[in-house]
Amino acid sequence: MLTLLNLLKDGRFHSGQALGVALGISRSAVWKRLQLLEAELSLPIHKVRGRGYQLASPLSLLDNAQLAACTPGLDWPFLLSETLDSTNAEALRIMQAGRPAPFIVLAERQTAGRGRRGRKWVSPFAENLYYSLVLRVEGGMGQLEGLSLVVGLAVLKALRERGVAKAGLKWPNDILLGKQKLAGILLELAGDPADVCHVVIGIGINVNMLATGEVDQAWTSMRLQLGEMVDRNALAGDLTRHLNHYLGRHRVEGFLGLQEEWQDNHLWQGQSVSLVAGSYQVDGTVLGVDKQGALRLQVGNEERLFSGGELSLRLRHDS
Ligand code: ATP
Repeated sequence: MLTLLNLLKDGRFHSGQALGVALGISRSAVWKRLQLLEAELSLPIHKVRGRGYQLASPLSLLDNAQLAACTPGLDWPFLLSETLDSTNAEALRIMQAGRPAPFIVLAERQTAGRGRRGRKWVSPFAENLYYSLVLRVEGGMGQLEGLSLVVGLAVLKALRERGVAKAGLKWPNDILLGKQKLAGILLELAGDPADVCHVVIGIGINVNMLATGEVDQAWTSMRLQLGEMVDRNALAGDLTRHLNHYLGRHRVEGFLGLQEEWQDNHLWQGQSVSLVAGSYQVDGTVLGVDKQGALRLQVGNEERLFSGGELSLRLRHDS
């Protein structure tokens, strides 16, 4: 299927005959594959008599050679798939099967993309980035402190470098543009966090998505902001280089070395918020984050610290 898509990805017309020759199959077999493509991947294809077939809009497909060219000197292999349940789930399976870290799993689409607490990450075919980096962590709990916040900084840097200047962070690990969600981060651990463990750093970035009825909160994409298609290979390359940089600094300096930079990019610094975990809610004002990445909230007359994967922030005047 990907071979056929690579022939069509430029968004131009291709005759059934030319596609058949390129694939070594008959014109009617081409027609069948195109129908399958349209049905399976929800990709509209135009058919015009005398001209051939054309994708409704061009595609930026993932490509190993381009990814490698975008990450010179970095020996982190990219493992590409057309369809996965979740890149994090696949990364965990590959790691458990014995592949040494680091490595990166990418998919053109996810059928069960994961958010926090079992929520779903909407992952249509070839539009966005679905990316999981597996790392081995040997330094105990200290090496994990603030890690997901640091990943947020790397994502932010990659977005800004591609022109999305106004993106910012929301504690603990969302990337927003104003109130719209542009990217999400999900870290999953395997092994003993106090000793040697593996961490899977899952990142979803809305790249070229223009429409979806499936996301149940305000969202945006790079293309919606920039008004043009974004090269997903170049973006994945940038992201990988920035992850390498920030994770390297985090390993040496701990979160302390990045605390200020994180706060400078926190969209909700000084805002009145509610912190929610199930039926628990506490209202306060965001003071920042501490040297471990915990949220500092002014609650009444006291400062309180919050950390953990179950907590969600909401702006108070929204509720
Ligand atoms: P929190 O504030 O707790 O992070 P959240 O609702 O943003 O809350 P996440 O687990 O970070 O939760 O992300 C999952 C949620 O993100 C989904 O429930 C959905 O509302 C939203 N979502 C799913 N897919 C996308 C997408 N492609 N782009 C933007 N938002 C999405």
